[in-house]
Formats: sequence, C-alpha cells, structure tokens
Amino acid sequence: MQDAFVLTARYVVSMDDAGTVYSPGCVEIKQGMIASVGNLEDVSQSQERIDYGNAAIIPGLINSHTHAAMSLLRGVADDLPLDDWLANHIWPLEAKFLSPEFIRTGSRLAVLEMLKGGTTMFADMYFFEDEVAGAAKDAGIRVLIGEGLLAFPTASAKDPNQAFDHILEQAGKYRDDELVGVLVAAHSTYATSEDQLRRCAQLSAELNLPVQIHCAEGKKEVEECLQKYGKSQVAYLADLGLLDTRNTQISLVHMVWPQEGDWEFLKRDNVSVISCPQSNLKLGSGIPPLARYVDEDIRVVLGTDGAASNNNLDMWEELRLAAFLAKGSTLDPTKLPAQRALRMVTIDAARAWNLGDQLGSLEPGKKADIAVVDLDRPNTTPCYDIYSTLVYAAGSSNVKDVFVGGKRVVKNGNLSGGVLNEADVLAEAREWAEKIKKARIDG
Ligand SMILES: [Zn+2]
Repeated sequence: MQDAFVLTARYVVSMDDAGTVYSPGCVEIKQGMIASVGNLEDVSQSQERIDYGNAAIIPGLINSHTHAAMSLLRGVADDLPLDDWLANHIWPLEAKFLSPEFIRTGSRLAVLEMLKGGTTMFADMYFFEDEVAGAAKDAGIRVLIGEGLLAFPTASAKDPNQAFDHILEQAGKYRDDELVGVLVAAHSTYATSEDQLRRCAQLSAELNLPVQIHCAEGKKEVEECLQKYGKSQVAYLADLGLLDTRNTQISLVHMVWPQEGDWEFLKRDNVSVISCPQSNLKLGSGIPPLARYVDEDIRVVLGTDGAASNNNLDMWEELRLAAFLAKGSTLDPTKLPAQRALRMVTIDAARAWNLGDQLGSLEPGKKADIAVVDLDRPNTTPCYDIYSTLVYAAGSSNVKDVFVGGKRVVKNGNLSGGVLNEADVLAEAREWAEKIKKARIDG
C-alpha cells in the first residue's frame, strides 16, 4: 500500500465533538496520519482507494484497562469472590508461572484478540511489561505499558521497589516509540504501600506519566480503607498527592463504590474513571454508577480488565453492557445513549490518556487508527441509525479491517502486516494451559 490512500464507506463516524457522520464518507490517509475526512464527493479520483461499501469507518477502540497476559488464565478460576479469587487462585498461579515467556505468549494472544475486534490501543498493568511492548509492536497495536507496583515481591520485582527502576528504564527506552508509551501502574490502596503511592505521584509529575490504580472495586476494600484511615480510598489518594491537578493525570479503575465525598475529586480535569463492567459483574463486585458519572460530567471510559475475570477482551460487549447498566440501574432508558456510549471507547478514552490531540476521533492531523465495521451482515441489517447499530447490534465479528498509524494490521478479519502468526500463538497458548493444568492436578 502506498503512503497516501483513501478509505470510503457508507458511513464515516468521526467521533469529533460535533458528532459528525459523513454518509457516504471518506478518510484520506497520508504517511500514517489522517489528512482529511469528508463526504464521498470530496475524494480526489487519482488516489489509491479502498471502497468498503456497506460498512462504517470508525476510530479504533481503546481498551483503557487490561492485564493482557492474563489471557493465559482465561477460565482458570471462575465463580469466586474477588478476594478469594485473587488470594487463593490468581496470585498463587502467578507466583508459580509468571516469567517473561509467559507474558510474551499471553500478551501475543491478547493483542491478537484485541486487534481482530477493532481495538487499536490498550493500557496494561502487569509484569515484565517489556514483553507486552514487544508483543504489541509485533502485532502493530498501540500500548501503554504499566509495570505493576505492589508492596510485596512480584515475579518481575523481587524487591518491591525494583518496579520503579523498571518504569524509569522503560520511560527512557520508549520515549520516542511510535506504538509504546509508559504509565505508572499502582495496584491498589490495599496492595501498594503508602510510600510507594507517594513515589508514584512524584514519578508521574517528574516524567509526565499517567497513573493508573484499581480503586473502590469491592465493598470490602472500601470499608477496610474507611476503618484503617478514616477516609475513602479516593480521599486517601488525594492526601498522598495523586490527584493533584497540577502534576498528575490519574485514572481510577473500577470505582464501583464511590463514597459521597469522592464526587468532587472525580470531577477534576486530570481524573478519569475507568469502568470494567463485565469484570465487576462476574466477580460480583457490584454495578458501577455509570449514569451518575455521565450526568455529573465525570470522564468515564471503559476497559475489559484481564481475561481471567471477564473472560474475553471484547470492547463491544463492554460498551453495550455499560449502556444497558446505566439504563437498567436507574430504570431510565434515556441514560447513556448510544452515541454518548461510543465516546467512552474512542475520544473520551484518548483524553483520559492525555492523547486526545492524537487519537480517538477521525479528524485531520490525528493518527490514522481506524476500525472498519462490516454492516453487510444479518446482525447489522437494517441500519436506521449508525450509532444504534454500532453500540446495540454490532460486535467484534463485524470488524473487517483495522489500521494503526495508517498501517493495515487486520485485513478481512485476519492479522496482516505484522510478524505474528495466529496459529503459532494459539499453539503456544495451549502449551501453557497444559502446564498450568498439570501443576494444578499435581499441586
Ligand atoms: Zn484490573
């Protein structure tokens, strides 16, 4: 494919602030960037052109919270409460198996699944994050890597504070990388120490890195924090400097149980809530108050969480569930309408990562991260309103082509252009599963 080309389709859903849809529309791409977006008649006939016909060209989806390599633990322990699931199943398995090789295979499996479903960027929190970066680069997907910061030794940080060294090293290594960025990933108020959290705030300010932390996921952790510190987790983080508008960009993952005093903090420009509704429901953590977040103008975006608590990395399911929960939990079907919901996985997500000027919508000057959704299918026929079709009817199986930085990385539903081979990745993943199964039987 040449450096300059044009994509055309029945709909171009720009997700710009005015909510412009061009129908039929076109997107002109030059050297990986969007050069123009408009109606079909605006296209110059001389350029190389891919006509998708009855399809929607939309910004690539952004998965704002995952633990990519946990895809190897998909289905390993289900139907358990969060603390039991973590302490008695996930953490022991991680202690036994986590290695750079595990992370490499798990991340490859995850990026395959995400890209094929139209996700063009994800924010990760796990270990040996260099391997996550490698898998992302091999497949051609964008990633923000987040080396997990915990108060106890982990597979990649025998001394808990070694994780800070990894973050510093990665911040240098990927400073100018086209696909990889770095974030400060503190696990939680209960598994990351106070000193570590203070250092996260400093590091974020010094290196201009966003912070991500699990917060108010389950009722129990909220109550424990209130008992231990006499304040909510959000207020505790604020006291440690993590919500300082001048220095940090922070995203609070889950926020199923915000306390009354938290709302003022959440309204700050530099704070985002990342909701992972499927994970919250599956772990029985609760129903996040999505409608109130939207009503109060709090930036709320979506993530899948890891595949061990979801159990897939499908942003379309997350999107639809978020909209339905907002309606069902308030008995009000007007809450979180389709167009508003789609912002949570596109432009609002880009803004949560301080990347709103580069990603998240189809506008001139932005990077050409694009998903092409095939509408010529039973589940998307007829189409009266494109937002309704995308949010309430379409799914990852409708994703036909995906572009990241103007490079076609999925073609006709299959990986293209990168160095990963799907059959090889699946075979490697099955090998890991055999080892894990055997260890559980023996152990
Ligand atoms: Zn998580």
